[in-house]
Amino acid sequence: MTSTPALLSGLDERLPDLLALYRDLHAHPELSFRETRTAALVAARLRAQGWQVTEGVGGTGVVGVLTSGPGPVVLLRADMDALPVREETGLPYASTATGIDPDGNEVPVMHACGHDMHVTCLLGATGQLAAHRDAWHGTVVAVFQPAEEVGGAPAVLEDGFADRFPHPDICLAQHVAPAPVGFLGLRPGQVMAASDSLRIRLFGRGGHGSRPEATVDPVVLAAAVVMRLQTVVSREVAADRTAVLTVGSLHAGTKENIIPDTADLSINIRSTTPAVRDQLFAAVERIVRAEAAASGAPKEPEITRFHSFPVTVNDDEATATVRTALADALGEHQVFTLPTGVTGSEDFGAFGTALETPSVYWFFGGTDPAEFAGLSSADLVTDGIPPRVPANHSPLFAPVPEPTVTTGVRALLAAAGAWLCAAPRAVQ
Ligand SMILES: [Zn+2]
Ligand SMILES: [Zn+2]
Repeated sequence: MTSTPALLSGLDERLPDLLALYRDLHAHPELSFRETRTAALVAARLRAQGWQVTEGVGGTGVVGVLTSGPGPVVLLRADMDALPVREETGLPYASTATGIDPDGNEVPVMHACGHDMHVTCLLGATGQLAAHRDAWHGTVVAVFQPAEEVGGAPAVLEDGFADRFPHPDICLAQHVAPAPVGFLGLRPGQVMAASDSLRIRLFGRGGHGSRPEATVDPVVLAAAVVMRLQTVVSREVAADRTAVLTVGSLHAGTKENIIPDTADLSINIRSTTPAVRDQLFAAVERIVRAEAAASGAPKEPEITRFHSFPVTVNDDEATATVRTALADALGEHQVFTLPTGVTGSEDFGAFGTALETPSVYWFFGGTDPAEFAGLSSADLVTDGIPPRVPANHSPLFAPVPEPTVTTGVRALLAAAGAWLCAAPRAVQ
């Protein structure tokens, strides 16, 4: 941080507009593949900045392309979707939005994962890149991706992405994290876990609540399944392996004195190796079928897989380049090597895999440092984020707009600048 960075010039003047944009996006969240307002807003801003814009990529995706002579091609990706969560932050710009989920239900919607921050930071970066084309050379492909929460990246790629847009030399993306503002975390190699989701329908035989002997109660069956599934990670997976199994939804019945016919569960599993992933699938199937048999279920359970995210892998060499750029731009003491065993998942890896391009993905903190009083950054890296701090997907997750926006914009420009600027340190 020794000189005025060319790409950062004027960012301070752009900031009030970016903060207003962030609050607007936060107050108007949209569910996966329904990001029409967000996409229109993104497209309009990119066009105003001078980018070549393509809309409707992979559904609601927006891709901007900007060239400044020959040089490397850098793909920058931000995800746009929000979650079916009722916001409880109490912020003046809190969401009261609702949306229609894939099952046709009206649900509350909140930017509980912080993708509004990603859109804001990338639009900040695209604005800076457009304003300072003399400071870099090459091409930037800015991807505003729909539906990260349900693995929307393949939809963008399968919409002819490789044929329609310049082929990148590097793919870059970032995620806001419940870490102190200014904190930047990354690691070479595997950075995020695989995530797989399962839908399970358990069959019973319904009847009157007063005569359970005439029924097979799927509520009791579901309860047994949920409890037994808790033993998979604790009793079957080796202690030094990463595995998580969460029953995220459980629905059965309509009234207290009616025993229903069916119960529906949805399950999410996280793993970091194919062997553990297969082990978790097999255990879920074994337990669900065995509990159904133990209940005398009249029909075999239905088990359906949906939403599958592979592990996210950072290219070793490119990660070293990004790390140096982030440290130069934001301070060496702000950049940390993440531990292994991160159980979050991402679909960003699909870009690098499909385009056969190295990719780097990092985290940037968005939480008020006061929340971490008494803890050092080293503590956070070693012990993880304290459970008391609201994290992504929590109804209380509320990144502080500043200096998070500035940090995210600077990080994107620093990382992209490592490829785009003639002197790799030009964004210092
Ligand atoms: Zn999320
Ligand atoms: Zn997210």
